[in-house]
Amino acid sequence: MKNNRFRIAAVFMLLVTFAISTLAQSKAFDTSRMDTSIDACEDFFGYANGTWVKKTEIPPAFSRWGTFNILADNNQAILKDILERAAKTRSPKGSDAQLIGDMYSSCMDEAAIEKADAKPLMSRLKMIDSIKTPQEIPALIASFHQIGVPMFFGFGAGPDLKNSSMNMANASQGGLALSNRDFYDNKDAKSVEIREKFVAYMTNMFKLLGDSPETAAANAKASMAVQMRLAMASKRPVELRNPDARYNKIKTSDANAITTNLSWEKYMTARGVTPVNEINFGQPDFFKEFNNMLTDQPLNDLKAYMRFMVVNSSASRLSKRFVDENFDFYSRTLQGTKEQQPRWKRCVGTVDGTLGEALGMEYVKDNFKPETKKRADEMIDQLFIAMGQRIDALAWMSAETKVQAKKKLGTFKKKIGYPDKLRGYAGLSLSRKSYFENAANVSAFNVKRNLADINKPVDRTRWGFSTPTINASYNPINNEITFPAGILQPPFFSFTADDAINYGGIGGVIGHEISHGFDDSGSRFDSEGNLKMWWTPDDRKSFEERADCVVDQFNKYEVQPNTFINGRLTLGENIGDLGGLEVSYTAFQNSMKGKQRPANIDGFTPEQRFFLGWAQVWATKSTPEFEINQTKTDPHANARYRVNGPLSNMNEFAQAFGCKLPNKMVRQKQCEIW
Ligand SMILES: [Zn+2]
Repeated sequence: MKNNRFRIAAVFMLLVTFAISTLAQSKAFDTSRMDTSIDACEDFFGYANGTWVKKTEIPPAFSRWGTFNILADNNQAILKDILERAAKTRSPKGSDAQLIGDMYSSCMDEAAIEKADAKPLMSRLKMIDSIKTPQEIPALIASFHQIGVPMFFGFGAGPDLKNSSMNMANASQGGLALSNRDFYDNKDAKSVEIREKFVAYMTNMFKLLGDSPETAAANAKASMAVQMRLAMASKRPVELRNPDARYNKIKTSDANAITTNLSWEKYMTARGVTPVNEINFGQPDFFKEFNNMLTDQPLNDLKAYMRFMVVNSSASRLSKRFVDENFDFYSRTLQGTKEQQPRWKRCVGTVDGTLGEALGMEYVKDNFKPETKKRADEMIDQLFIAMGQRIDALAWMSAETKVQAKKKLGTFKKKIGYPDKLRGYAGLSLSRKSYFENAANVSAFNVKRNLADINKPVDRTRWGFSTPTINASYNPINNEITFPAGILQPPFFSFTADDAINYGGIGGVIGHEISHGFDDSGSRFDSEGNLKMWWTPDDRKSFEERADCVVDQFNKYEVQPNTFINGRLTLGENIGDLGGLEVSYTAFQNSMKGKQRPANIDGFTPEQRFFLGWAQVWATKSTPEFEINQTKTDPHANARYRVNGPLSNMNEFAQAFGCKLPNKMVRQKQCEIW
C-alpha cells in the first residue's frame, strides 16, 4: 500500500488497516459487549460497546485494537500456515509457492540479517558519497526512484483523471519522511516535540551508519532543513482532497521550464521510459522550490538528506539495531505502540504487502466460498436500488442533476472476493539468500511494471488489495467498489446472523463505498470515471452547503484534550458513513416489505439491531498518540464518532431508540445529504 502513491490518491478506503494479534471473532453481534447502563440516546458507541471497551486492553504490540485488528489477526494465523508450508517445500523456480516461500524464509532468517547488518546499504550510500556537483543529483534521483527509494518527488504511471481509460506520466510532490506538511509546520507543543524527536531519530540513524555524534547531529539538521523546504512547498492533505489540486496536465517542455535544473526527458530516459510529450505535473510550486534547492541548498545538505532517505526506507529490512530505532520513532513515539510485533507477523505482513496476489490466491482456496460471493453480490444490488430510490426522493436536487447522478449509479462496477484475472510475477527472481535483496527485487519489479503503464490503456481488472485484506474501497477512476474476501466474514457479514445485523454491518460498509462516489471528492468524477463537473451550479452549491454541515459537526469532536477531528480532512469518509447508513437502512426496509415482520431478538427490534450491528463493527480502543496522529494523517474519523456522528443525524435512529432533543444522539441541526 505504501509504495503506490498514485493508486492511493485515487482510492478511498474504508479504513487504513495495518497489523494484527490473537482472538478470533466469530459472532456477528454480541450483547455481552454492550453496556446498557449507558444511555443509548447519549452515547450509542458506549451503549453498544461499553463492556468490551472496559474489559479490553490494547495489546502492547498495537496502537489500536478493534474489530479490524482482531480479524486481521485471525487471518495472520491462516497466512502463517500457508507460508510455513511454502517455506518447507522446494517449489519450481518462479512459481507462486517458490516466491512466497523464499520471501518468507529470507525474512525469517534473522541470523543472516544480523550478519549482513548495514552492508546491503553500502553500494547505495557510495553512490551518494561520490557526488561532486549538484548537476549529478537528478541522475542519482532517477537511480533511486528506479529501485523504489523515495526522495524529493514522486514519478510514475497513473490514470489521466480527465481521460480515465488512459494512463499517463505523473510527477507529484513527495520526499517527506513524516506523513505530510502539517508535521513540519504545526506550531503546537506536541508537534514541536515530535519534530525534536524526529531530528533525534535521524541523528541516531546516522550514528548507526558510523557517523561521529557531531557529524550525525549536523547531518540530521541538514536533512531536516531539506525536508522543511520540501514540506513548505507542499500542499496539505486537505487541499489534495480536491482532485483539481492533483491535476495539471502540461507539455513536458513546460515542465522543463519549471525545473531548469532537471530535464524530464533525461530523467525518463534514465528510468527506462521513452520520453512522453505530456506530464501530469501535480504541484508546479513544489517543483519550483525543488528546482531552487538543487542549486541554493548546500550540496552536503542534499547528500545528508539522501543518505537518510536511503536508510530510513529500508530500516525494517536491516539488522535489529536499525529495526529497533525505526520502531522507536515511527511506532512508539508517533503511535504509542509499546512493543514490536513478533518477527513472524512482520514477515507475514511483508509477504502480503509484496506478493499479495500469490498469497491471497492460496488464502481464498480454503477461506472463501462461492456462496459468500453470490450473497454479497445480491446485497450490493439491493444497495444500488436503495441508492437510486434515495436520489429520486432528494428534495434539494434538480431533476437535471438527478439524471446525471442516476447515470453514474448505473455504471458502478463491483469487485468481490478475489481478482478474476491474475497478473502473476513473470520475470521476478527471489531466493532464500537475502531478505534485503528480495525486497529490493520486488520493489524494482513493481516500479518497472508501473512505468510500463505510461500512455497505455487503463487495465480495469486490476485489484488494489490483496484478498485477505480487511477493508473495502471505492475507485472513482473505474467507478468501482471492491470488497476483498477478508472483509466478507463476521462481524461484517454472516450467514447465520439476521438481516438487520448484516445490513447494519456489511450493508453499511457497501453503502459507505457507494456513497464515496458521491462525496466531496468522488462526486467530481462522472459516470465514465472522468474528473468532470456533472452538477448544475445551483445543485452543487446545495451539496456544498450540506457538506459544510458535516464539516462543522466533526470539527467539534474532541478526541484528546485540545485535539479535534479535522472535519474537512475527514469529510469524504463522514459523507460515506452518513450516506452509507441511510442507503443501507433503506435497503433493509425494502428487504422487509411484503414479508412477515422479523421477531425481536435479544429484546431488540430489527431497527435497533441494524444500528447495533453498525456500532459493534467499530468497537475500537486506541492509544492517545494514535488518536492525535490520526487527526493529522487519516481521512477517517475516530471510531467512536463514526458511530455517534452519523447516527445523531438520523431520524431513523432516534425513532428506533426513542431519543429526542436535548439527547446528545439527536443533533439540533441534522445534516442530511444522500
Ligand atoms: Zn471510505
